[in-house]
Amino acid sequence: LMLERIKAVDEKVQAFITVCGEKAMEQAKKVDEKIKNGEPVGKLAGIPIGIKDNICTEGIYTTCGSKMLENFNPPYNATVVDRLLAEDAVILGKLNMDEFAMGSSTETSYFKKTRNPWDLERVPGGSSGGSAAAVAADEVYFALGSDTGGSIRQPASLCGVVGMKPTYGLVSRYGLVAFASSLDQIGPLTKDVEDCAMVLDIIAGYDKADSTSIDGKKQDFLSALSEDIKGMKVGIPKELFAEGVSEGVKERIYEAAKVFENMGAIVEETSLPYSGYALAVYYIIASAEASSNLARYDGIRYGYRADNYEDMIDLFMKTRSEGFGKEVKRRIMLGTYALSSGYYDAYYKRAQKVRTLIKRDFDRAFETYDILISPTSPVPAFKIGEKMNDPLQMYMSDICTVPINIAGIPAISVPAGFENGLPVGLQIIGKPFDEATILKAAYAYE
Ligand code: GLN
Repeated sequence: LMLERIKAVDEKVQAFITVCGEKAMEQAKKVDEKIKNGEPVGKLAGIPIGIKDNICTEGIYTTCGSKMLENFNPPYNATVVDRLLAEDAVILGKLNMDEFAMGSSTETSYFKKTRNPWDLERVPGGSSGGSAAAVAADEVYFALGSDTGGSIRQPASLCGVVGMKPTYGLVSRYGLVAFASSLDQIGPLTKDVEDCAMVLDIIAGYDKADSTSIDGKKQDFLSALSEDIKGMKVGIPKELFAEGVSEGVKERIYEAAKVFENMGAIVEETSLPYSGYALAVYYIIASAEASSNLARYDGIRYGYRADNYEDMIDLFMKTRSEGFGKEVKRRIMLGTYALSSGYYDAYYKRAQKVRTLIKRDFDRAFETYDILISPTSPVPAFKIGEKMNDPLQMYMSDICTVPINIAGIPAISVPAGFENGLPVGLQIIGKPFDEATILKAAYAYE
């Protein structure tokens, strides 16, 4: 049934890179058999889901939205995929994204442009635009995305769904194609907060295959949900309302603050003085890590290989200039520059120092507040093509989400009304590993 819906809807939305019809039917039959035989089934028995195309799926193409990995068929599953399959979920396919997750509109994908289900002339956000659009258009029940600087929350916001970036280290990155390893996290895109808590319950937890995975105690996010947030302390960081945030978005977020107040929370304005540097810091660190991570695509081991090369160097050069798109090349050059001798101290090292200052701002705020709230995206969904020729304008899309990745802390985006008929997202930020409080606040608000 869902496969038929995808056939009908995806012609317009273009959320999928790969639809796995046969494999999905096989998995669904397996679950059916279990039920018929009276065997116990998982929490996600038969639920149709989608996976962002930078998360490895055994025997299913994982392209990262790039020509470089157009024919890459991973021999293994990411840990998160194994966990979902262990609960008997059914993977319907792989979802479109900006190439190697670099972008805020899903327009840098090598394959197609995904459209926002609310207005097909507009972008779904990015880089997990396929994931957000597929959930919003009811093509899947939920999807996984990845978030390095906002790539789960910003598309969730633009498509009117829920999206969460967990604390760095809560969810295993094993099998996630690396963009910026110190910032990347996998997380859920769902219809509502309850589903988000349930999916997080399943994908979170220690994994020895990821050296940055944290061996904490297992939490139960679903049972943390409750309507009672009386006395909760909510901070509004004024810096996250500054540059480029539209009046309509501001209004929706201040209305949300009122809702929290009416539920008995204490709401105050606060400050994160260094957060204004977050975007600059992000583009140094993320590009530096990307330049290193993407060095592996050399045409030798796997992925695209150019033909008609003269020698090894020529093979590397042709492969990489033909296999990568413009935005990816821009990041590799920026990152290589920031890491090169003579510039390392001036750019990379300084960015790391400011990163610490940004983190301390949050530590200080969380001495007083349980959560912080802000817009997720400064503006609702923009027109396809509108920002493609202006990378700096595109980078501004993440002005409110990037500080959270820099600090390694968790945040969710939940729908908070509309501006001119387009969804607006509220961002709720929490303490490290305190997803439970974020989810509780989001659930009460919703
Ligand atoms: N839009 C940001 C970028 O282009 C964030 C991407 C992401 O979170 N993967 O880098």
